[in-house]
Amino acid sequence: DVTQLQLDQAPTEVTELALALDHTLECLAQSWTQQRRLLGDVSHELRTPLTLVQGYLQSTLRRCQTLTTDQRDGLETAAAEADRTIQILNDLLVLTRARMGHLQIGAAPIDVKPVLLAAVMQVDPAGDRIEADIQAAPLWVRGDANALQQVFVKLLENALNYSPPGTPVIVRAGRQADQAVVQVCDQGRGIPLAEQTAIFQPFYRVDVDRSRATGGTGLGLAIVHTLLTQMHGRIQVQSVPAVGSTFTVQLPLTQGE
Ligand code: ADP
Repeated sequence: DVTQLQLDQAPTEVTELALALDHTLECLAQSWTQQRRLLGDVSHELRTPLTLVQGYLQSTLRRCQTLTTDQRDGLETAAAEADRTIQILNDLLVLTRARMGHLQIGAAPIDVKPVLLAAVMQVDPAGDRIEADIQAAPLWVRGDANALQQVFVKLLENALNYSPPGTPVIVRAGRQADQAVVQVCDQGRGIPLAEQTAIFQPFYRVDVDRSRATGGTGLGLAIVHTLLTQMHGRIQVQSVPAVGSTFTVQLPLTQGE
């Protein structure tokens, strides 16, 4: 091919440089994979003892009737922090597994609609916060139904967490050209333009204290972005501070069953 032809004719120094570059890139890719594996292993190893610690704390709180208020407060804080850390480790595991390409994308197409409705039910079982406007025809895509449900759950949880209780969250689903399109809209605090790219980075939070108070791990949108990329999908955000946010998911449509 052309590159090979050019390399064949190039002076020795250029060929050596190209080979060295190739080798460096290979080493970088290897060390990248090793780092991700290490992160997955560490998360997994830490989760087991921490779950044990949390179990002991919970059972002490339940059984021990002689604790002083200070002791009880201390144990409750410890249990809550253990719980939060376990959630972070769980999310880190999901993120590293997805980034290493461990997602099970089945050969059969899946319909986005029931997956979206299951996510709505999971997040708003009473059905009093989320308004769904979902087109009747199936929306067939290629992907992993569990991963897709996680994507929708995380977007819906954020919409509920970052908007005041009385305001509606609207979820729409339909098609645009060759794409299935799902939108999650809220009338919440919004996200400044300058931060609308960074929120998809792990642990990035617009307002650290207020976001921590919502109980999230700071990994939700990083997971959403990674899972969608693995399914050849995309996510975009449109947001105006103090007005609200719309997250738009696009996935390529495929032939139905
Ligand atoms: P977290 O666990 O903090 O919610 P995410 O990765 O899901 O982590 O989101 C990253 C940050 O993006 C949040 O901390 C918040 O600042 C901002 N964010 C996400 N969704 C919304 C939303 N619907 N409205 C306003 N801000 C949002």
